[in-house]
Amino acid sequence: MPTPTKKPLRMNDPTASPATEKQDFIRQIVRDDLAAGRHASIHTRFPPEPNGYLHIGHAKSICLNFGVAAEFGGSCNLRFDDTNPSKEDIEYVEAIKDDVTWLGFEWSELRHASDYFEVFYRSALKLIEDGKAFVCDLSADEVREYRGTLTEPGRNSPFRERSVAENLDLFQRMRAGEFPDGTRTLRAKIDMASGNINLRDPAIYRIRHVSHQNTGDAWPIYPMYDYAHCISDAVEGITHSLCTLEFEDHRPLYDWCIDNIDLPSHPRLWQNLVDAGLDTRVSKPRQIEFSRLNINYTVMSKRKLMALVQDGLVSGWDDPRMPTLQGLRRRGYTPASLRLLADRIGISKQNSLTDYSLLEGCVREDLDGKAVRRMAVVDPVKLVITNLAQDHEEMLPFANHPKLPELGSRPLPFSPELWIERDDFMEFPAKGFHRLSPGGEVRLRGVGIVRCEEVVKEGEHVIALQCTLDPESRAGMPGADRKIKGTIHWVSARHAVQAEVRLYDRLFTVPDPDSEDEGKTYRDYLNPASVRSATAYLEPAAADVAPEQAFQFERLGYFVADRRDHRGDAPVFNRTVTLRDSWARPATP
Ligand code: ATP
Ligand code: MG
Repeated sequence: MPTPTKKPLRMNDPTASPATEKQDFIRQIVRDDLAAGRHASIHTRFPPEPNGYLHIGHAKSICLNFGVAAEFGGSCNLRFDDTNPSKEDIEYVEAIKDDVTWLGFEWSELRHASDYFEVFYRSALKLIEDGKAFVCDLSADEVREYRGTLTEPGRNSPFRERSVAENLDLFQRMRAGEFPDGTRTLRAKIDMASGNINLRDPAIYRIRHVSHQNTGDAWPIYPMYDYAHCISDAVEGITHSLCTLEFEDHRPLYDWCIDNIDLPSHPRLWQNLVDAGLDTRVSKPRQIEFSRLNINYTVMSKRKLMALVQDGLVSGWDDPRMPTLQGLRRRGYTPASLRLLADRIGISKQNSLTDYSLLEGCVREDLDGKAVRRMAVVDPVKLVITNLAQDHEEMLPFANHPKLPELGSRPLPFSPELWIERDDFMEFPAKGFHRLSPGGEVRLRGVGIVRCEEVVKEGEHVIALQCTLDPESRAGMPGADRKIKGTIHWVSARHAVQAEVRLYDRLFTVPDPDSEDEGKTYRDYLNPASVRSATAYLEPAAADVAPEQAFQFERLGYFVADRRDHRGDAPVFNRTVTLRDSWARPATP
């Protein structure tokens, strides 16, 4: 059997490779299979349906499938599960490819279930010839009625005993487009009394006169997911077909199809693969289920995410509040942070709910180790140093990262008129407030200690703070180390660049927006304060940067130059995450 040459699986990011060997039940199965010589090499696939954008749950599956293949020297295909053309779109195909690449993975081959339409069809003919499939004329409602329930067996369709000849004729005419949508199905003949409803003569083909993005109008019939998926796996030589737990009950049908179609030992099907130029590495794949990723404070089904987009509740699939990979990316989440999350949550069969703060912790951890520090003031008030000449100007050397000297430093302009954060000043300081207040002192980071001499107000509104700078507290002076409780950041007003900053918060106010208590839906739990736009002042070095450049704005959080809207001369930054978890339960006083 010819084995096609495969590109070895690579990850784009060298940091992606795990430092320690991962231990979970799937990797254990793979290890055992390799040790027992069951497979020469491991082949996995990530099989999205192109009917929406990928979300962070998919990232778990991507990291697992591509990760297992890479760790065991195997390969992983990206396969579009495009068997339901009415919901699918090329826009999604492109976005999915972009997402997988961005996450740091490279597929061995790009495949589509639609590449195998002919194989599916011929396999169905084989099932009919073997008396294992029949054309059924029951309507959808009747099928439901005949199906039975969890406690009662179903009843055989009156069309179940059609002859092979009649079934072949009808199925070929279904394929020729002779019958209208919904009038007939092809069903596997299994067992209407099975305790597993998926085995009660499931439909494997239905009639749909719709165009397909890849095959156009060539097919008026389309295979059902359960039938198409296992054959696709077999055709691609997938050894471990990893999917989420909701498919556990479908596994017997998966195995039934694989065993009864038996591609490798069927010369005509085999020839068909060769004719179509397809991989002939056909194997008997094994389906293994793992639990989905669920995260609180968000929704994760494509249907609900689609509704948020279509109803204008978010600005699009890449709205930085969305749990889509496009949204997370625009928000400033890094590929490494999502891979870190996948490592942290691990793989098991136990359903669980991951805390949103775990996701936030991963991006903090990743960015802390690499994001350059910059000064920015988001809610400004003027601070004027009165004991320096009006035209005083200095360039102060500031390290780009407190722990990574190799990231160098930049000159930060300093002058007597500064912007500081409004809430770093309190006219009537609360107990324990250690920043600026009338008559009080604070350290201006990298400059020295200032005292607030006068508060300039317009009505009740503070517009400026007149301060003096203690010359003895400046760098190199004897008082430079003078103890003082508060240190604040600042930006020189004369040099500052104005920017729009978008301050994001969680999209939902409750941990479980999916719960439909008291007739409410997830729409009732949208967080009205999930986005706020503000005008900020940035030090010049933060402004003229490329989109997607990430920074820590000191004391404020991690920010990223918006992928869509940022320009060097009109900067737009998104807050990825604050420096600390503001949703954690407040410490008891
Ligand atoms: P959704 O239910 O969110 O609409 P889906 O399961 O319909 O998603 P597919 O395109 O069929 O989306 O999924 C592709 C792969 O990603 C499947 O193997 C699926 O099991 C996996 N997957 C989807 N959601 C999650 C999740 N939350 N956690 C882990 N894997 C997931
Ligand atoms: Mg699905």
